Amino acid sequence: NLKLSEKGLKISPSLTLDITAKAKSMKAKGIDVVSFGAGEPDFNTPDNIVESGINAIKQGLTRYTPASGIIELKEAICQKFEKDNRLSYTPENIIISNGAKHSIYNALMAIINPNDEIIISVPYWVSYPELIKIAGGVPVYIKTKEENDFKYTINDLDNALTNKTKAIILNSPNNPTGTFYNEEELKEIADWAVKNNVLVISDEIYEKLVYDGKEHISIASINDDIKKIAIVINGMSKAYAMTGWRIGYAAADKKIAKIMSNIQSHTTSNPCSISQYASVEGLLGDQSSIVEMKKHFEERRNFMVHTINNINGLSCKKPKGAFYVMVNFTKLKGKKIKNVEINSSLDFANLLLEEGKVAVVPGIAFGDDDYIRLSYATSIENIEKGLSRIKKIVEDK
Ligand code: PLP
Repeated sequence: NLKLSEKGLKISPSLTLDITAKAKSMKAKGIDVVSFGAGEPDFNTPDNIVESGINAIKQGLTRYTPASGIIELKEAICQKFEKDNRLSYTPENIIISNGAKHSIYNALMAIINPNDEIIISVPYWVSYPELIKIAGGVPVYIKTKEENDFKYTINDLDNALTNKTKAIILNSPNNPTGTFYNEEELKEIADWAVKNNVLVISDEIYEKLVYDGKEHISIASINDDIKKIAIVINGMSKAYAMTGWRIGYAAADKKIAKIMSNIQSHTTSNPCSISQYASVEGLLGDQSSIVEMKKHFEERRNFMVHTINNINGLSCKKPKGAFYVMVNFTKLKGKKIKNVEINSSLDFANLLLEEGKVAVVPGIAFGDDDYIRLSYATSIENIEKGLSRIKKIVEDK
């Protein structure tokens, strides 16, 4: 008869971390599993950043820092916003946290009153609904369609709007679909948000991973009105292969930034001092390694998409950004493969793991049971090996 938190009991575990853990434990037992589960670059952190981290340790920069982060990194982040996004912020607008996930958490804690509604699109990044619930809010879902590039319209937003709507979370480029909104679409969303006084949490963690020569645009840069009500989220994890260093950041109006910083000061205090110093080098130092990583991701994407579309029963669109492919398997639904009837994305993912020794994430983790998600943050050889195993299973050879 443990008396536990009702709010806590409603939080589901992170299914993506769960699958990667299962694949890792199979690998540890010596089973040759190909994992497409990864939500992180397979590259090492660039040397110049690593060196800066080592130097920070040697110089004794190993103590508490101001709760919302060191001034050097805040200034580097302001420079980054100016250079990459045409956004002008000062250090008072910036809060540095333990990863972008933590930044989103702080943002939601700063704006949500009990039962406030936060609009997100489906498929969504696994943590959004749970983070909203932890903060006492209610996730409101807009289902998007593959034929519309997994994007919603102003009409969809109008239909989701109520007098409890507090914010939307926009994730462009998107995990898991790889879609991104162009300038015209962002302008429409910005106008809608301003008109309806709805805050925008803009998760731009995949900004550096946009392909086909296109460039990411931050919704906050559309005009000053939207900038006032936007909380821009970004971080070091994906672009700089720094997932373990845990540095994310947010830029917001000073009032919002202050509340986020106060919340952080009583929960985690500052993010790791060493990682902060290393991140200064990441943002201000040589950027050639991130250009190189992006080149690899783009090649892998092209190869993966082409190969998947040559497997009977599976199909996918070419994602425009991030490092994931949403694979549509509706043609296999109701069919029996290796004596397993495929009725859900979990059935399909389990079959692939158990029979094919390939780890994928079931779409249900993102709220869409017609898909599985494959990450191409792995080598071309692995992609080739894993997809040929999937082909064998699916074509039942
Ligand atoms: N936002 C999205 C859409 C993500 O996919 C991720 C990581 O998977 C994050 C935020 C969090 O990144 P981190 O907390 O490592 O900075």
